[in-house]
Amino acid sequence: MGTAYCDLQLQPIAGEWREGSSERRVEVTNPYDGSALLDIRLADHSDLDAAYLAAERAQSEWAATSPTERSALLQRVVGIFDARKEEIIDWLIRESGSTRLKANVEWGAARGITQEAASMPGRVHGMTLASNVPGKENRIYRKPLGVVGVISPWNFPLHLSQRSVAPALALGNAVVIKPASDTPVTGGLLLARIFEEAGLPRGLLSVVVGAGSEIGDAFVEHRVPRMISFTGSTPVGRRIGRICSGGEHIKKVALELGGNSPFVVLDDADLDQAVNAAAMGKFLHQGQICMAVNRIIVDESRYDDFVERFVAKVKGLAVGDPDDMATVVGPVINDKQREGLEAKIATAREEGATVLLEGEIDGQLVPPHVFGDVTPDMEISREEIFGPLVGIQKARDEAHALTLANSSEYGLSSAVFTADLARGARFAQGIQAGMTHVNDMPVNDEAHVAFGGEKNSGLGRFNGDWAIEEYTTDQWVSVQHTPRGYPF
Ligand code: NAD
Repeated sequence: MGTAYCDLQLQPIAGEWREGSSERRVEVTNPYDGSALLDIRLADHSDLDAAYLAAERAQSEWAATSPTERSALLQRVVGIFDARKEEIIDWLIRESGSTRLKANVEWGAARGITQEAASMPGRVHGMTLASNVPGKENRIYRKPLGVVGVISPWNFPLHLSQRSVAPALALGNAVVIKPASDTPVTGGLLLARIFEEAGLPRGLLSVVVGAGSEIGDAFVEHRVPRMISFTGSTPVGRRIGRICSGGEHIKKVALELGGNSPFVVLDDADLDQAVNAAAMGKFLHQGQICMAVNRIIVDESRYDDFVERFVAKVKGLAVGDPDDMATVVGPVINDKQREGLEAKIATAREEGATVLLEGEIDGQLVPPHVFGDVTPDMEISREEIFGPLVGIQKARDEAHALTLANSSEYGLSSAVFTADLARGARFAQGIQAGMTHVNDMPVNDEAHVAFGGEKNSGLGRFNGDWAIEEYTTDQWVSVQHTPRGYPF
């Protein structure tokens, strides 16, 4: 392994590592103990413009490289992920408050999509189609889009940037990343160092660290990017979708937005398995996952039994230092998130939910809170929680469980537990979501399998063949082999 990356307070803008040009700075802190990690001078509009123009200049030469060359680059990135595993995991713990377990999961997911992306250059294909015009041949060429702008959130920053960056580059595009201000290193700067070490030509990948409120609109509106790949909240996604479809420069958009995953326990479920899955799917990364269990819906015949076992399980989860091997629930990312969770706890009580488990909030450490007798109209059921709180609802029967599961504006992931797999698959197909897991938690991501949401959870799919579709476009080229006869 080489020496540790330094100078991560600089940003790779248009092929050069330098400070941003804004007067504003951001201090990146460790969410667990508040210690300072980095002090970064932010990028402004001029940096953004320089990054996009350099990406545009570098892209056509990159698109002309052979599939083997691009594949080899991605393979070298995989090698660096392996060689620098501990360094990457350490940054994920310190910058995003990841527990050791979550940091390992995230490192594995980001490595996995990089390996998948390494196979993509050789999987792109066009087609020929017959023509109704005598002597004409129709060809469909599949081409890179050009430049892709990637905006990522702070919860799984490394993976949620890389799942766009790796396929986009593999398919011949250039990329500019705008990571979240809480996680500029793991959401962008570290990735840029890794790609540079792997030999990616300069200018093809820039990172602009700036507040969404300051450079967000300009990042999306800019003439150069042909696509914006956004992962984040539904309100911001809505705004970005409007700009991409109604702004001066119409462009493609992928929106991976909020979720409100139902976790359904039918009357014949294996309760021990269901309890373990619900605990893992709720409390991994303190519940700050778009696919996290947000509503537990239990058949009324099993409700008391489930509640007793679930609360006993959750009581035993260790809360504390994310660097400690035993910790399951580490810190939430920042004060704003903690305050939002405190307000949600207060509202759940006011609205009449039964407190089944609670604990003292200490700094950014929010211990698990479990509420019973929750109804679909309560805030804790209607809204995405994004923290270690959960409400449990009673369903009268299977049909009622499905109605409850679907009573949400979101449709990202979901889960159902039953001993009857045919029943499970049937139930799953009735759920309005992009992803449903039978006898497993809703938190799943495999680099070769379609990932994405329905309803207000977004547009588009990541991973595998779906990423190839997202980061390329089709061109119809017709070739007239014999002179065509025109009527005038
Ligand atoms: P957020 O929407 O506040 O921010 C996401 C990113 O958008 C950040 O980089 C932020 O700086 C940027 N941004 C903010 N305003 C912007 C603007 N006007 N223009 C352009 N960019 C702007 O979300 P967050 O709080 O960082 O992340 C949590 C949310 O992300 C949750 O709702 C969660 O469900 C969602 N999420 C979704 C997925 C998914 O795959 N569907 C994955 C992870 C997180």
